[in-house]
Amino acid sequence: MRLLVTGGAGYIGSHTIRQLIAAGHEVVVLDNFTAGHREALPEGVTAEEADLLDAARVGEIVTRHEPDAVIHFAALIEVGDSMRDPRRFYRNNVVGSMNLMDALLDAKQKRGKAVPVVFSSTAAVYGEPDHVPIPEDAAKRPTSVYGETKLATEKLLDAYDAAYGFPHMNLRYFNVCGAIEGGQIGEAHPNKTHLIELALLTALGQRPSMKIFGTDYPTPDGTCIRDYIHVVDLADAHVLAVQALQDGAPTTRYNVGLGHGFSVKEVLDAVDRVVGTPLKREIEGRRPGDPAVLVADSARIKADLGWTPRFTNLDHIIETAWAWHRGHPHGYAAD
Ligand code: UDP
Repeated sequence: MRLLVTGGAGYIGSHTIRQLIAAGHEVVVLDNFTAGHREALPEGVTAEEADLLDAARVGEIVTRHEPDAVIHFAALIEVGDSMRDPRRFYRNNVVGSMNLMDALLDAKQKRGKAVPVVFSSTAAVYGEPDHVPIPEDAAKRPTSVYGETKLATEKLLDAYDAAYGFPHMNLRYFNVCGAIEGGQIGEAHPNKTHLIELALLTALGQRPSMKIFGTDYPTPDGTCIRDYIHVVDLADAHVLAVQALQDGAPTTRYNVGLGHGFSVKEVLDAVDRVVGTPLKREIEGRRPGDPAVLVADSARIKADLGWTPRFTNLDHIIETAWAWHRGHPHGYAAD
């Protein structure tokens, strides 16, 4: 298949395109390279520098490359930024997605065949869950503008599908972490907020200590529990999803997580084991908007697509991230 991958130079995108190429697919990346990195792209991959807000250019790229399917990652992702600047988030994430979908509808009209989409959604669409593990049909009550923009895009896709026939799969990611084995690519966000990345940068001496945001949650050790899903397992979920759509699978939404949670303290204990020295820890107050426990019920994607996560050991997951950060202490900038 020929696949157009928006945001293919980002953290999850760059891992996914490697798995797609390994599965025999041809990949064209569309990225505006504001958060994505050219160095994250495998040699020889076609890259179009373009912004989804430029509808004419998106249409031109779709017409020229005639993709069989699209994987849509490109989005702004930082929750705190979304609360400070909702306008930018709605425009980038929702209007940008609409431009892409409209270009794909035009392509469908011309070719007489739908171009299916795998959409990068998030567990943030659920907000504070009533029950864990969270099934796909749980209530959607995002607590951030970021989560709202992802839910709005899911609804757009669903409405387009109902009205025009637009097969798609919304993959709702839990806490994505880790890096490709060998550590050539990895997590390198301009604005760092994720627990494992911050802990490993602390281990590299770039930060004085690790802050634990809240020890009074209703969990066994008082710290928040999250479902840490390895980026390569997540990439594999995209390969399976796009293949299923190509084979005629219906529009679906899937959680992608291990189905098992680890507390902040358990993660930091694992980081200590992997890096070989205990990090200095500081107890802080709760971070606003953090639910106590987020764990995926991923039974649906396992049953429908045969997806099986391979990275289930927390220490191993962290070892893969450590290999990346140790080899690239300042991300791609210092390569
Ligand atoms: N966390 C923390 N210290 C940090 C960063 C994160 O205690 O420096 C906690 C955070 O409160 C949450 C968990 O680690 O409970 C995972 O946070 P992260 O930002 O990695 O992902 P999120 O669950 O917010 O998507």
